Amino acid sequence: MAGGLASASPVHADAAHEHGVAVLRVVSEGATLMIEFVSPLDNLVGFEHAPRTDAQRTAMGAAQARLRDAAALLQLSAEAECVLQEVVLESPWLQGARDEHDRGQDHDHDVSPDHEHASAPSAAHAEMVALYHYECAAPHKLERLHTRLFDAFPRLHEVRAQSATAKGQGAATLKPATPYLYW
Ligand SMILES: [Zn+2]
Repeated sequence: MAGGLASASPVHADAAHEHGVAVLRVVSEGATLMIEFVSPLDNLVGFEHAPRTDAQRTAMGAAQARLRDAAALLQLSAEAECVLQEVVLESPWLQGARDEHDRGQDHDHDVSPDHEHASAPSAAHAEMVALYHYECAAPHKLERLHTRLFDAFPRLHEVRAQSATAKGQGAATLKPATPYLYW
């Protein structure tokens, strides 16, 4: 599982791309907690092509801002004392200059070559990946993750969660009425 996180990519050949559905992968190893959220862009912004209008660029930027606001989106057991270290976003059309390599089409070390063609009309689907890295002072007290993903992204109606922790592996389907993961 940890290797899967390390190789997070907006293109997942192994995961079905289904609008309305996203994937959440949670891996806890020692003090380190990694949460990966993978969603079709349609769930987040309502389109899956390069932003062409100001409204679309604004929508993309707003989605990125919501995803970066980990404290609002992901609420972990307070007793575990997890501190966010970093948020990494990946998508073919990130707005802003925060990550320089995301802007250059010439630099594809983090972006699958498939994305070079993803902006063509009627092209394939596209996704956004958000990777959250926490360090937890008391990881054994991690018991619950309460997400507010459905509030932030109303087009989303199901999140398929997988977790791997010292307690073992688990899976759960999160819905707007039950946006919780326990482990
Ligand atoms: Zn799609």
